[in-house]
Amino acid sequence: MPEELIPNTNIGVVGHVDHGKTTLVNTLTGVWTDRHSEEMKRGISIRLGYADAVFYRCRKCRGPEGLTTTPVCTRCDSETEPVRAVSFVDAPGHETLMATMLSGSALMDGAMLVISAADRCPQPQTKEHLMALELVGIKKIVIVQNKIDVVSHKEAIRNYEEIKAFVKGTIAENAPIIPVSAQKNINIWALIQALDEVIPEPSRHPEADPVMLIARSFDVNRPGCSWKDVKGGVVGGSLIRGLVEDGAEIEIRPGIQNQVENKTKWEPIVTKVTEIHKGQKKVHIATPGGLLAIGTKLDPAITKSDMLAGQVLGHVGKLPPVWEKMWFSVKLMERVVGSNSEVSIEPLKQREPLMLSVGTAVTVGVVSNTRKDAAEVILKRPVCASLGSPIAISRQVGGRWRLIGMGTLIE
Ligand code: GDP
Ligand code: MG
Repeated sequence: MPEELIPNTNIGVVGHVDHGKTTLVNTLTGVWTDRHSEEMKRGISIRLGYADAVFYRCRKCRGPEGLTTTPVCTRCDSETEPVRAVSFVDAPGHETLMATMLSGSALMDGAMLVISAADRCPQPQTKEHLMALELVGIKKIVIVQNKIDVVSHKEAIRNYEEIKAFVKGTIAENAPIIPVSAQKNINIWALIQALDEVIPEPSRHPEADPVMLIARSFDVNRPGCSWKDVKGGVVGGSLIRGLVEDGAEIEIRPGIQNQVENKTKWEPIVTKVTEIHKGQKKVHIATPGGLLAIGTKLDPAITKSDMLAGQVLGHVGKLPPVWEKMWFSVKLMERVVGSNSEVSIEPLKQREPLMLSVGTAVTVGVVSNTRKDAAEVILKRPVCASLGSPIAISRQVGGRWRLIGMGTLIE
């Protein structure tokens, strides 16, 4: 298979609810990421969605206008050639779903911040998501000014000025702002050009021990299928370094919870890769970047309904350590963003509960110790992570988990 057709970069799609993230992913990939009945009913994305796209260049049209996401040019019907494939990670924009957005941010090499031209800017999660990108250190950002089909030229300019003022002094200060209509397919070529320029394939370490962050996990069998046809559990996510081959023995950490003499113990899972899918195609070797799905010999009961989301997959005995308790450095912001009342942030306190996002894992813990600019937390669910891993810190404010700062795993 041509290499141009295998996704090598993950592009996050973030922004306020209803600004058109899922519609935009559909326009770019043909996939509706709101697949679950509950998501369809409520009209919002609840889980992380993902979908792949191939960027093509028309053989006839000159200039960037010839960029499309279809194998036939949308302007002149001529043949195209593939340029590059990418995966999109569609984060939910609802304020109650920041944890999901944060777990997705661990996979993002860059991001599109989607802002509706039909609303005033910034809306609360526009702010909170940009803050998250800033804290997590995602610098490669393209701002998408969406829904230009429903505003006048004058309103579009006013909205553009608001966006410019909003991003001033932030990580997105110099990000290009591309006006589009995801629904009416307007200016999508300009967006493809900006994404290709601003978010190049990152440098990877294929020679390192593999580390795959699991973002989703599934039971792909239909209810009631015959035992002979039962397929093993499937995990989806992204390899951040290293390679995984078809047939490899793999380990997943922290694994599964067992009760041993009234104590819960987490035991790593060891299994074998039975198939690898990337860019909707079967491949023999998974390379870093882009989203992939790995079929295993696991009982699908272990992988159903995202039960392994947040865990880490790699070669047996070669994974980072598992932490039930950890010290991390703490850098708090000044005020909470993302709600209407922006309260100031007090230092971390003994025994307060925190929500920590480490890689794709989201775990709650209780502060057991603090010192200057650092805290120790005892975790409800352990996490697998290397020293130095970034940690997003959230606290309950007004009954919701709010992002308050960032840390680094130190011991
Ligand atoms: P998300 O919450 O950011 O994922 O937003 P959705 O993609 O679910 O879109 C929210 C609503 O905005 C839906 O009713 C879409 O049809 C509509 N929408 C999305 N993009 C556009 C656009 O470019 N123009 C117009 N007029 N409506 C849009
Ligand atoms: Mg959505």
